[in-house]
Amino acid sequence: MEQTLVILKPCTIQRGLMGEIISRFEKKGLILAGAKMVWLTDEILSEHYAHLKEKPFFQRVKDAMRTSPVIICCWQGVDAVRVVRNLTGVTNGRNAQPGTIRGDYSISMQENIIHASDSLETAAMELKRFFKKEELFSYVPTLLSNLYADDERDAYT
Ligand code: ADP
Repeated sequence: MEQTLVILKPCTIQRGLMGEIISRFEKKGLILAGAKMVWLTDEILSEHYAHLKEKPFFQRVKDAMRTSPVIICCWQGVDAVRVVRNLTGVTNGRNAQPGTIRGDYSISMQENIIHASDSLETAAMELKRFFKKEELFSYVPTLLSNLYADDERDAYT
């Protein structure tokens, strides 16, 4: 079983899309292991977006992430990292496939609704960056046998 990090960006909070986006992950069958509202600092965003630090839009992207609080979530499931990235769609909302979250709700490269970890290694690092241990919860999802076949369920636990 994998865990991955999703951030609902300020554009999502301001546009009243929080429930709708969280619902997409719930309906897919992902299990919510943690969630909180946070006003991010420039410092943590500099770490989070370190791979963009040479880009001319680095500061602008960080500033956009601080125009309101964000919602940070940890979703879990079998192959959760890939499942969530597939649901998310490509970075530019104008190019993202209809049916993906960015494809359905974004018309922008920057204002693209959510952040989602892009690999297992990144997910582990990002979960550690944004959640304390005690903010992530382990509980038995009662519908597991309706979400997965027996062999897949073994991969969940
Ligand atoms: P992703 O979020 O799809 O993993 P990146 O890690 O490359 O994409 O970029 C992080 C975020 O920075 C993007 O989600 C987007 O909000 C913003 N961003 C990336 N490239 C650009 C760009 N060329 N112009 C404006 N914003 C950008």
